[in-house]
Amino acid sequence: MEVVQVLHMNKGNGDTSYAKNSTVQRKIISFGKTIIEEALLELSSNYDIDSMGIADLGCSTGPNTLSVISQIMDMVRATSDHLRRRVPEFRLFFNDLYSNDFNSLFMLLPAFYKMLKEEKGIGLASSQCFISGVPGSFYGRLFPSNSLHFVYSFSSLHWLSQVPVGLESYAVKHLNKGKVYISKSSPQSVVNAYSSQFQADFSQFIKSRSQELVPGGRMVLSFLGRKSIDPTTEDGCYQWELLAEALMSLVKEGLIEEDKVASFNAPYYAPCAEELKVEILKEGSFIIDRLEAFEVDWDGGAVADTHNEQGKMMVGERVAKTIRAVVESMLESHFRLGQDTMDVLFIKFAEIVGNHLSKTRTKYINFVISLVRKASHINLEAQPTDVFLF
Ligand code: SAH
Repeated sequence: MEVVQVLHMNKGNGDTSYAKNSTVQRKIISFGKTIIEEALLELSSNYDIDSMGIADLGCSTGPNTLSVISQIMDMVRATSDHLRRRVPEFRLFFNDLYSNDFNSLFMLLPAFYKMLKEEKGIGLASSQCFISGVPGSFYGRLFPSNSLHFVYSFSSLHWLSQVPVGLESYAVKHLNKGKVYISKSSPQSVVNAYSSQFQADFSQFIKSRSQELVPGGRMVLSFLGRKSIDPTTEDGCYQWELLAEALMSLVKEGLIEEDKVASFNAPYYAPCAEELKVEILKEGSFIIDRLEAFEVDWDGGAVADTHNEQGKMMVGERVAKTIRAVVESMLESHFRLGQDTMDVLFIKFAEIVGNHLSKTRTKYINFVISLVRKASHINLEAQPTDVFLF
């Protein structure tokens, strides 16, 4: 599976689309808001910017994409007013992989431009906004040198650039049979392959951005991770454990070949804070301004009682829909399941998740990191790198 060509969130606006099933990611955006606000305040206070380059890396499509950028523009406007400066011109770049549903995103733009003009006065003579789509992988250069002031990425950096080396579907020996990600029963070689892939990808990401951001430019990154150094703890991997269980139950029913499960490994990694710090410090261009971790419910925090059968089913279905919207493209590409079998898989998965959550309320851990690209006048010693868990 070529991740950069295959991976996309479910397209359009239908029942299984990402646009309709991204409440978990919306919740995550709400956690990052104050950190973005702080970063923009620092940026605008230190620099008088005429034309602000802003990039959303892994933008996908749907209400989340435009809501973040709209909030960012509000924050920049409020800061400019406060500092009695002209609101800058905005150069906004929406980046995602090639098969992202850019068409749906672009179709939201006419209403967005109208709203900007009517509610914020942006697009009138005083301030302009130029939006572009940038297809490509953020694990490499996407923008010209020193062209961006602010970069943000929400719920995207836990995706790797590829299935870790040695675990690809065509590998001669399947090392992680019956599992689709790191699991308690995975051999150490599987854990090592995943962590090496993450290190290579994350350092490439940091290096690319260090060239694209102006000195003093800011970056806020938010993605799933884990609390413990041990990558097999539940908060880092259990959704995949349950997906593997659902796949194996379809193997028992003869709907999927066992070998197909053995040869599938997700291009995903939930790092711990130490792994992030090591790569950022090693690359050396950024100061870590903030690094925080939040717990997020698998269903985005919607309240439901999992003590009765109906509640269990409801929560299970909600979680299954959010995960389906995200992983279906990869499953489709590898397993070549028909729509009916895909439906059966996610009905089974919903049941397994509902049962699990009625016993243990496993949560995701989400990191938010705020970084500053070093500039000569910034104190390079300042590195507050403690992680605060809320
Ligand atoms: N930021 C949005 C979407 C998150 S979904 C939100 O918060 O709702 C994650 C997105 O990251 C997907 O659209 C996926 O295609 C994208 N993505 C994953 N790997 C990527 C890569 N290497 N380069 C660019 N985008 C990537």
